[in-house]
Amino acid sequence: MSQRALWLKNATLVTMNPERAVLEGGLLIEDGRITAVGSIDPEDADGAEVLHLDGHVIIPGFVQCHIHLCQTLMRNHADDMALIEWLRGRIWPYEAALTPEALAVSARVGLAELTLSGTTSLLDMGTVHHTDAIGEAVKESGLRAHIGKCMMDHGDQVPEPLHEATDDSMRESLRLHSTWDGAAGGRIQYAFAPRFAVSCTEELLRQVGEAAADLDCPIHTHSSETAFENEFTQQHYGVSNINFLQRVGITGAQSVFAHGVHVDDHDCQILADTSTTVCHCPSSNLKLASGIANIPRYDEFGVPLALGADGAPCNNNLDAFIEMRLAALLQKPFHGPESMPARRVLELATIDGARALGIDDEVGSLEVGKSADLVVMDLDSDPGCGPGGDVEARLVYTAQKHNVRHVFASGRQLVRDGRLCGVDTEALMARARDVQRDVAQRMQQFISG
Ligand SMILES: [Zn+2]
Repeated sequence: MSQRALWLKNATLVTMNPERAVLEGGLLIEDGRITAVGSIDPEDADGAEVLHLDGHVIIPGFVQCHIHLCQTLMRNHADDMALIEWLRGRIWPYEAALTPEALAVSARVGLAELTLSGTTSLLDMGTVHHTDAIGEAVKESGLRAHIGKCMMDHGDQVPEPLHEATDDSMRESLRLHSTWDGAAGGRIQYAFAPRFAVSCTEELLRQVGEAAADLDCPIHTHSSETAFENEFTQQHYGVSNINFLQRVGITGAQSVFAHGVHVDDHDCQILADTSTTVCHCPSSNLKLASGIANIPRYDEFGVPLALGADGAPCNNNLDAFIEMRLAALLQKPFHGPESMPARRVLELATIDGARALGIDDEVGSLEVGKSADLVVMDLDSDPGCGPGGDVEARLVYTAQKHNVRHVFASGRQLVRDGRLCGVDTEALMARARDVQRDVAQRMQQFISG
């Protein structure tokens, strides 16, 4: 028995394994991995430290496939606007004003929030510059992330610091790939992140498609969030947004397209045929008035799906519980009460997200051999969560982040009794307020009109 063995004892386990089994029992962690699930032979756990869970619920850590860690400092500073106005008037000027230090603080705040609300893996969009600061913050956080530098070599009203030459954008992405892909013991991987068709030249997108294929590297972009993106590609390239992205070679089994609100059946067929994942971001789509993605239709076509909170200024939370509840409720008035059952939503937030990122052999379910990335929920002591009932429904419709008791990633405890381990959150937030004020001042020079 390893000295680092830990026995999580007396719990309900929502495993999300292939049978979607819900088990009573415990879970054994040794050297960062799950070595037993369900009924534990005390002999196997001999010498392990025991954590008594008194009937708490253990779930796999959430996997969020669309996050902007760089934007956390803009939370509640860019509200009640439509996407293009929001980008040009607030978000791009803000990103243009970010220093490496400000970006690091923004990422740390976002990672703290994600950890406290049970997300242990994420796909980040990054910003144009200083991406190393995001890598360092992820490394220190203990979470698992695909990071990528946001690529932008085209566009109107883009502040000068964000406008890059095609070659520079590729060169910096390749440098970051060689620095960060596989870093922190494999916890950090790289994903190319061209922002969206409106911000990228066709040439850049083609180069991204080729480089990603050569390097066996995921691609992360926004697609079909608004009708404007389709108008843009129709006008410039004569085809829909999804059709255009396929033509330039960035659809595929390692591609994650955030949003997918404005698509037709032909687009769905392309996504299904190429096994491109659509990352559903319900809060962001509502708040920016983009629309409601038709998730049951994607399921009918067999399009891979995932869930994401997007950025703090368009949500304004990075909380998987809020996204799950909305993802379930939003579909029901249109497609009936059975259209998005709790289990389907849990899949999007765990194992399907892991599959989208190609890390489903490591995370996304509670199974022997996988990394111990998991969340312990206290539902029973919360009057708002009980009494009892279907555990999947409790998690999707009722549970909130305050029910998160412990979080482990790679077997390391990141949250204990609802508090971050080793992070002074008061000091972090005091620093974030100072840095936010600086950035808010500096971004004024980049606001046009
Ligand atoms: Zn986004």
